[in-house]
Amino acid sequence: MKKRIIGATLLTVVFALLISNVVGVLMFRSREMDAARSTLQELLELMDAQSAITEPEALMEQFHAAAPDKRLTIIDTDGTVLADTGADASTLEDHNDRPEVAQAEATGWGEAVRRSDTLGTSMLYVAKRFADGMIGRAAMPLSSINSLAMTSVWGALIASAAALLLAFLLSRRTANRVVAPLSSVGTALQGVLDGKKAPGLEGPQADDELRPILRYIDKLMDQLEGYIQSITAERDKVSLILDCMDEGLILLDEDGKVLAINRAARTLFGFPEGEQEDGALLLTRSRRLRKAIHDCQEKHSSIMLDVDALTEDARSLRLFVSPVSGRQYEGQPVGTSILVSDVTELKKAEGIRSEFTANVSHELKTPLTSIKGFTDMLSSGMVTSPADQKRFITMIGVEVDRLIDLINDILKLSELESVAIDQTEERSAVLDAAHDTASLLEPSAKAAGVTLAVEGESVTVGVPMSRLKELLFNLMGNGIKYSENGGTVTTRVRVEDGKAVISVEDHGIGIPEEDQSRVFERFYRVEKGRARKNGGTGLGLAIVKHITQLYGGTVGLESQVGKGSTFTVILPIPKN
Ligand code: ADP
Repeated sequence: MKKRIIGATLLTVVFALLISNVVGVLMFRSREMDAARSTLQELLELMDAQSAITEPEALMEQFHAAAPDKRLTIIDTDGTVLADTGADASTLEDHNDRPEVAQAEATGWGEAVRRSDTLGTSMLYVAKRFADGMIGRAAMPLSSINSLAMTSVWGALIASAAALLLAFLLSRRTANRVVAPLSSVGTALQGVLDGKKAPGLEGPQADDELRPILRYIDKLMDQLEGYIQSITAERDKVSLILDCMDEGLILLDEDGKVLAINRAARTLFGFPEGEQEDGALLLTRSRRLRKAIHDCQEKHSSIMLDVDALTEDARSLRLFVSPVSGRQYEGQPVGTSILVSDVTELKKAEGIRSEFTANVSHELKTPLTSIKGFTDMLSSGMVTSPADQKRFITMIGVEVDRLIDLINDILKLSELESVAIDQTEERSAVLDAAHDTASLLEPSAKAAGVTLAVEGESVTVGVPMSRLKELLFNLMGNGIKYSENGGTVTTRVRVEDGKAVISVEDHGIGIPEEDQSRVFERFYRVEKGRARKNGGTGLGLAIVKHITQLYGGTVGLESQVGKGSTFTVILPIPKN
């Protein structure tokens, strides 16, 4: 702007100087010409006054002595040159054709500017018809007038240079004055952009005309600062939300290059924090993802797909790839958005559920197949003896009981699984529950030749009585099932570290080490044949584990093959 102000001023000054100089020089020259013309005319008038009484040659001599720098010529009426100070008259041709001479003959006076062939220079000629009819002509070279004009041109040029310098200095000063407040506006605006408070703009150096504008800009900047602050706050809020999301969010441009990626997406895809990601790298890793992005853009419809993350923990990711149109991110058009969620647990749960369904079907099928076999035999009439018929019917009854046990256990398990933690108010005495359960199991213990013992201190836990008995029933029942004839199953109750510790010990077949971590899984049996023969459903320990977890406890196992097993349940003791 400064340059433009100075440039425009200087240009104006240059034009003004040029015009005034040219006009000045032309006027100067024309004035000089007028003066020269008058001099020549005066000379001729004087000569005219003398011409009648003096010979042409003598007349010339006389006037040439008085004006040596002028060329004087006397021409006869027929054009013959009678005398000339510039050349020998006899050598000169007829002068009637000279315009000034012709004009003087016709009107009395004549004038011409022309190059003299005789003297070889530009001359101003003035001619006069004398009273005696002869033509007197006086001439002077233009070079003297031109050199005078040149002198005036130099003078004008020097004055112009001085005027230009002055104009430059003045315009620079003015430009500085005009631009200074604008520069301070610029500095202040930059300050606002850098997040600093805008300084007041109205300085003493500001011109009166600029003051209201500066005041207005000052106000605008205050507003702008407010806007910037609110936009920054908004942006921080959005990025906070994006960064706190458990779901990953990725924005791609129309070529599939990553424009933005939030913290969760980085973690899920295994991008190190802060690393400048190469968008293409992320997407070229999965061919299916690349295809989904392409299809999504092509068909303008959302696509859902599951991929395995290439991270060490191989998590399962569910991606929702959606087309985005007419939106920009930091000035670049967005083509696709990808919402990423971690479905590892969901997939695991789905796997467990389908495995459980398969197991349940299998477990149901076995007794049903047996029942079908027995009923077919009976209905075919092949079993005729009443003793055999009774035996078959008893076996059907056993399988039906097994089915009922199985269905009951499945129902219990699904009921236990439907809640994560039970904050019950109910309190139960562990020793009472153990004694009651032992009485309940007494007939089967007797049948197996196993002795049941319950001992320890009385302690109350925050578990409903029915669930506590269920837990003990499974543990003590297993003790009986997997003990040899003559064995003992001992249930002990004690308080340790402020917690109720219930252990059920047997001296039975024991559990191999490699199976110990798996016996709490649903339908997991160490020896399938024996477990089934004992009437086990394979769900007892899963139920135990779920009950202890539901009431904030833990269950552990110590066992040695051939020596026996001890299951230990630790439950918190409620304060009231
Ligand atoms: P089941 O109804 O088959 O007993 P559980 O879930 O109660 O099912 O037990 C799972 C498996 O753990 C059993 O099939 C058995 O192989 C083993 N098991 C459980 N308790 C004992 C124990 N006290 N001694 C030896 N093995 C046991």
